[in-house]
Amino acid sequence: MGTLENVLDHPVMVRLARSRAATRLVNPYSPVPDSRLRAAVSGRTVLVTGASYGLGAATARRLGAAGATVLLVARTAEALAGTAESVTAAGGTAHSYPCDLSDPEAVKDLASRIEERHGAVDVLVNNAGKSIRRSIEDSYDRFHDYERTIGVNYLGPVRLMLALLPGMRARGRGHLVNISTIGAIIPPGPRWSAYQASKSAFDVFFRSAATEAACDGITATSVYMALIRTRMSAPTAVFDNVPGLAPDEAAELVCRAVVDRPRRVSPWWADVAELGFTAARWPWEVVAGRLFAAGRNRPAASTGRPTKRAEEVRR
Ligand code: NAP
Repeated sequence: MGTLENVLDHPVMVRLARSRAATRLVNPYSPVPDSRLRAAVSGRTVLVTGASYGLGAATARRLGAAGATVLLVARTAEALAGTAESVTAAGGTAHSYPCDLSDPEAVKDLASRIEERHGAVDVLVNNAGKSIRRSIEDSYDRFHDYERTIGVNYLGPVRLMLALLPGMRARGRGHLVNISTIGAIIPPGPRWSAYQASKSAFDVFFRSAATEAACDGITATSVYMALIRTRMSAPTAVFDNVPGLAPDEAAELVCRAVVDRPRRVSPWWADVAELGFTAARWPWEVVAGRLFAAGRNRPAASTGRPTKRAEEVRR
């Protein structure tokens, strides 16, 4: 791992990784024309979870500006109010619903308040997420890490979907969008066991539920995101030197999913890697283990990096 980090730290690599060309190659996206987005969402109700920060806030702002009524869900009421304010300042309509998605009663109450006030939602963007990057040996006494990630990334969105699907089914239309991660389609790396297991659990649930919902006219899109520069990815030093999208850029991928309703959105190289790694799963697991063993006891100072170390917890 040390060698890989040294290569990524080289000034030439840093400049390359930060260049527009690398970003566009690794994370291709193109802005959705305003007219197409407006035609798809104007007058529609779109619920965006995790709309207080990062990708969710950027997505809500873009959809709201295009004429959607956006329902904003997250825990931090003040930050939700900030997103709502930007939507209304751009002439849109937003309603904030502060809610902890890991609290079963709160999700039940959220779903019934939303249906009572707005009727069935047209689009549900499941975006809220919690990330933890920590090795297994640092997690022996941290079972709560697994409970927390499963609560926010899996059980919360399952509860919300189960509560909102009947309304969509009764109307015979609706669109479900899941903001997943490339980690769910390429082999898991070390230190991501809690996060990637919980994201993968919802990914599998979502794709299975999508096949059933399709019978009732409901479409579903899994968006496998690569790196986005948000407060979630910020604590991981190695991501500083990897091409990544700004939240507004990544929001274009979500908006395109809302407009085109494909089954899947993913970067081309993740598709290639998924195929390749399926064939080479065993060698990858050996290499990943060796890289982890080589890097785990190395003092953080030896790379000259800030001491963010292995224990990086993201909200
Ligand atoms: P972020 O800036 O940390 O935003 C996460 C959002 O989820 C926040 O609005 C947060 O709001 C909300 N949230 C967290 N716990 C919650 C809970 N218990 N109940 C309700 N809301 C909760 O992260 P982001 O990068 O925008 O992530 C958005 C999505 O993209 C996530 O699903 C993530 O897994 C996925 N993703 C991110 C990356 C990346 O590189 N950043 C890459 C691939 C996929 P509150 O704290 O106010 O509750």
